Amino acid sequence: MPFDFISEERRLTQPEELLTYSYDATDHRGRAGLVLRPVSKDEVVEIVKEAYETGTPIVPRGAGTSLSGGPVPEEGAVVLDLTLMDRIIEVQERDRLATVEPGVVYGRLNKHLESHGLFFPPDPGSGSVCTIGGMVATNSSGIRAVKYGTTRDYVARLEVVLADGRVIEPGTYARKSSSGYDLAGFFVGSEGTLGIFTEITLRLLPKPTHYAAARLAFPGAAEAARAVGKIISSGLNPAVLEFMDKNTVQTVEKYMGLGLPEAGALLLIEMDGFDQGADLLLEKALDLADAEEVERGTDRQALWRARKAALPSLARYAPNLVLEDVTVPISKLPEILERIGEISKGYGIPIATFGHAGDGNLHPTFLVEERDENLEEAMKELFQATLSLGGTISGEHGVGLEKKGFMGLEHGTSLDLMKKIKAELDPKNILNPGKVF
Ligand SMILES: Cc1cc2nc3c(=O)[nH]c(=O)nc-3n(C[C@H](O)[C@H](O)[C@H](O)COP(=O)(O)OP(=O)(O)OC[C@H]3O[C@@H](n4cnc5c(N)ncnc54)[C@H](O)[C@@H]3O)c2cc1C
Repeated sequence: MPFDFISEERRLTQPEELLTYSYDATDHRGRAGLVLRPVSKDEVVEIVKEAYETGTPIVPRGAGTSLSGGPVPEEGAVVLDLTLMDRIIEVQERDRLATVEPGVVYGRLNKHLESHGLFFPPDPGSGSVCTIGGMVATNSSGIRAVKYGTTRDYVARLEVVLADGRVIEPGTYARKSSSGYDLAGFFVGSEGTLGIFTEITLRLLPKPTHYAAARLAFPGAAEAARAVGKIISSGLNPAVLEFMDKNTVQTVEKYMGLGLPEAGALLLIEMDGFDQGADLLLEKALDLADAEEVERGTDRQALWRARKAALPSLARYAPNLVLEDVTVPISKLPEILERIGEISKGYGIPIATFGHAGDGNLHPTFLVEERDENLEEAMKELFQATLSLGGTISGEHGVGLEKKGFMGLEHGTSLDLMKKIKAELDPKNILNPGKVF
């Protein structure tokens, strides 16, 4: 029997068990032939070696929250569920590093780090369930990227099992390095197509102790976008600067009843630091923003509830929605918002847009009943507009199955080099085949 060195209770074969591994948070589906739940690097190596010999496709999987189809298996593939490898191996407090197994959940790691006064900032919306392995594989980020950057900025060192079972450890525990190519960085965002992470060392930061937040209402998206430009170019460095357009605000209000203002657009802003300076910075940002209405947050969590409810509320309204993830330079925010409005009108598709405006990452959400050619054309136009403004088709969700058809638009001949690297590292194409390209 294939892979029979994995014990029966960690070797899933029943149809109802396989079904739970057939999807992610998109509408892509694919039935696995077998699910293996390794508990150690050595088991991963054994699995990969057998897969290499037999040419069996392997799909690494964390929590399965991907918004790109990344962990959805091709028919009959072996899914490698890494969630049992969930040890926080060590927090090296003096070096501000944490070494973890890939199945550690983001929220659990940060809870653990609180007692050390440290944190790992990226903060994706799915942070209470998604794994560090999945975050590294997609270069995940979230509302704090505007100040703190993305997962890539925190990966110090990796342990990676390659397609033929060799194990490499790119990166370093040192604070910096000029020694050769940045191979650890190169594996970040590889979506399970180049290697399987079995151990990850993350750089950490001291956790701020003071926060000041506010919700700002504007007559329209253009005014909100201009405020974002002013705040960012002033150098005030907000920790969070989030945007919700009118459609999003109305839908959240419809389902959540949070008492949101009847605004053309909302911004949510947060300053952080280690003293009351955060309050002063917030006041300066509010002066610059010149909003119609401001609500300061004594209860930050209540303020954030509206933003966190955006995707769930839109999904309730339009269960088959298609969520996009385009990112442009901040100065181009007003233009991309205008283009989104034109695309919505031109193709007759309602679009609700929200996202991390402070770093130019927007989630235009197509509120469709089904995928059809009209939607594909509208998406293509959105990507073309994004690229013409110097942006990228995915700011944080990755390519997976969802966007692979559009990779040529963005990368041109660089895409050939990516394919050559994939062929060199995975000549039999067994690691997450059919994704990214
Ligand atoms: C409600 C909701 C909100 C979200 N908000 C955000 C957000 O704010 N920001 C954001 O970036 N994303 C967001 N996401 C998308 C998703 O949560 C992230 O992409 C997350 O990083 C995926 O982690 P995961 O553990 O679920 O990985 P999975 O979905 O299981 O896998 C993702 C990819 O990583 C690969 N992979 C997983 N583990 C490994 C490993 N150990 N080695 C090699 N490859 C591996 C898989 O093959 C797959 O290609 C959201 C999703 C949902 C459902």
